[in-house]
Amino acid sequence: MTRCPQCKRNYTPELKPRSRDDRRPIQEIYPDAEPYQREQLNLLGLCSDKCFDEYISGSRTEYTYDERGRRFENGVRKPVADPPAWM
Ligand SMILES: [Zn+2]
Repeated sequence: MTRCPQCKRNYTPELKPRSRDDRRPIQEIYPDAEPYQREQLNLLGLCSDKCFDEYISGSRTEYTYDERGRRFENGVRKPVADPPAWM
């Protein structure tokens, strides 16, 4: 179980966590996974695009999110957020 630092939810990551002796980057283990799925296995353990955005750059009014917190822009799935306007 992982606890999301943004929404405080306990959840099970969608990808199998890397084994302790596997030193490869997560990107290399799961090159075709969605960024949020890999993010779930990173140190912070953010659970979704929505939590990632809120944690990293505050609420992104240009995006919408589905019930699983996946990011959309104008109805199109958006796996990677653009840098926020203030950056
Ligand atoms: Zn979360």
